[in-house]
Amino acid sequence: MPTKMNSPTVRSTTFARPQTHYRVDLAKEAFTFSAAHFITFNGDICERLHGHNYAVRVSISGPLDANRYVVDFIALKEATLAITGYLDHHVLLPAQHKEIIVSSDLRETTVVFRERRWVFPKEDCLILPVVNTTAEELAWFILNQIRERTLGLFSDAVTEIEVAVDENQGQWGVCRSAWSLQTTHTD
Ligand SMILES: [Zn+2]
Repeated sequence: MPTKMNSPTVRSTTFARPQTHYRVDLAKEAFTFSAAHFITFNGDICERLHGHNYAVRVSISGPLDANRYVVDFIALKEATLAITGYLDHHVLLPAQHKEIIVSSDLRETTVVFRERRWVFPKEDCLILPVVNTTAEELAWFILNQIRERTLGLFSDAVTEIEVAVDENQGQWGVCRSAWSLQTTHTD
């Protein structure tokens, strides 16, 4: 009769995962874009046109799926690269600013803020659905673009998405949102 080994026992509770949350973070070196912009602040102060080498980080939270991951890194990477590539080497302009008035004809985009006026080749500009092209607003825009591109790919069980935009080597604007676009009305 074999001698009973005095092996260590592992209690099943070792594998219980109460209060366990998972998230994937992607901050690839390739998640960069260079763009020109200017913002207004404190009401009537308008920056000069200038540029940044922006960097992007994206995080998605949710339970582990059948593959034991939250979402596929490759799919998330491709969706993020698509939007950073779209923004790269453009002048970023706000569509919803009350006083920065942006208009385009077939060839040119004209921007007016009070006494100031800028004229760009139309194809150099992207007019974004934001009030001001701050890092926070860019993060919101990128977040929505990534969500749109991956909604059909990722599980409905995903809970949250966060996008951070670095506009100056350590100066981040962050936007976090529930994954589901549906809101619950309690009234
Ligand atoms: Zn800036």
